[in-house]
Amino acid sequence: MAKYTGPQCRLCRAESTKLFLKGERCHTSKCPIAKKRPAPGKEAKDRKGRVSDYGNQLREKQKLKRMYGMLEKQFKLFFDRAEKKAGKSGDNLIIMLESRLDNVVYRMRFASSRQQARQLVNHGHILVNGKRVNIPSFIVKEGDVIAVREKSKKMIAIKESLKELSKSGAYAWLSVDPDAMTGKFVETPKRSEITDLGDVHEHLIVELYSR
Ligand code: SF4
Repeated sequence: MAKYTGPQCRLCRAESTKLFLKGERCHTSKCPIAKKRPAPGKEAKDRKGRVSDYGNQLREKQKLKRMYGMLEKQFKLFFDRAEKKAGKSGDNLIIMLESRLDNVVYRMRFASSRQQARQLVNHGHILVNGKRVNIPSFIVKEGDVIAVREKSKKMIAIKESLKELSKSGAYAWLSVDPDAMTGKFVETPKRSEITDLGDVHEHLIVELYSR
């Protein structure tokens, strides 16, 4: 499956929900979903009246997959791993997605969106426990220290993004030192702590993959 490179907002409009793909902009009145712009294309418009259970399950999967910027194969691999863990598969899936290095970089505010965070990781700007890691899907563990590489600390995009931290503070499961551009994944978050994913219903994804 090819990687989607079109407008981010179009993905949200297709799902008729916020997927928070543009960072802070998503929380402003500029967001087309906030303006209630309709889904693109007639097909998407017509979809509402005739959605089957399978259709709902599929849409839920697409929403989460797009939110975290993943392709189908990798998303399914994550789900398979989540299913093998103890506890609810849906909860495990979200927690694993939250533990991806690109997501942690975004949550630490070194990037203003998950897409930008993925680029930082891909381009080698991020260290985990002092070593460069350029794999966005790398799973961060409790106690891991994430840092911006020394040479990359001058990057305007990172400095701009970190300004948000002073407004909103760090997530409960992370500690961030904005001056040193480092942070610690203090503990794995609980599903109940991840409250900003909009109306995602992960149990539908479990149902989909259980078919
Ligand atoms: Fe665009 Fe963000 Fe709104 Fe989605 S949530 S439509 S990416 S501004």
